Amino acid sequence: MAGVEQSIEALKKLLSEKSGLEEAAAAKINQITAELGQTENAVEPFDPVQRLKSGFARFKSLKYDTNPKLFGELATGQSPKFLVFACSDSRVCPSHVLDFQPGEAFVVRNIANMVPPYCQTRYSGVGAAIEYAVVHLKVEHIVVIGHSCCGGIKGLMSIAEDGDLNSHFIEDWVKICQPAKVKVQSNHSDLPLNDQCANCEKEAVNVSLANLLTYPFVKEAVEDGKVTLKGAHYDFVKGAFELWEQE
Ligand SMILES: [Zn+2]
Repeated sequence: MAGVEQSIEALKKLLSEKSGLEEAAAAKINQITAELGQTENAVEPFDPVQRLKSGFARFKSLKYDTNPKLFGELATGQSPKFLVFACSDSRVCPSHVLDFQPGEAFVVRNIANMVPPYCQTRYSGVGAAIEYAVVHLKVEHIVVIGHSCCGGIKGLMSIAEDGDLNSHFIEDWVKICQPAKVKVQSNHSDLPLNDQCANCEKEAVNVSLANLLTYPFVKEAVEDGKVTLKGAHYDFVKGAFELWEQE
């Protein structure tokens, strides 16, 4: 392991020193280092503690230590412009997809990026996040981002006609966007399930945008022109991002 790393470092050093090195030779060295890296990954068991520590070390040296002004300001408070709803799906982190920097976006992530209607008993966790972002942080834009191949939306579209639920929480949660399912089934009953799901991913965003207006402080802020509501859809198969205003 240490031997492999040393070899890679030696090759990189050679590469950087020999600026006149033939391109073909440089490519060959890159290929060999990549292969060495793969072999290393194949035999090395995954160490979660090491992964977390090395991840933070990279962030610390590349971002934290190089942006003392930003992190100095953030130490005294936050004033993000955006409240973002995104799915918990590991492939759709909005900080990566939209390049949000620390302090830019207050983020709520849950199954299928849903905003439930105002309810102090059932959905207090989501309600608290919206209230804090709108009333205290005074965000200016609320963005609900759906995404391709969303398992939560597929779950919603797959709930049995008789309404039988087979999960502790998941199906009950995704039924928040039942109106989107009804709309898709009546407009696109001819489409295969996957295409219906793709439609529902966007319709569910619209249901969430409408639900946002059931929170009195959101409705007031929108009516006063202090907050805008935006829908979005990130397609990680095509590498595309679509954005629209709430109707
Ligand atoms: Zn999802």
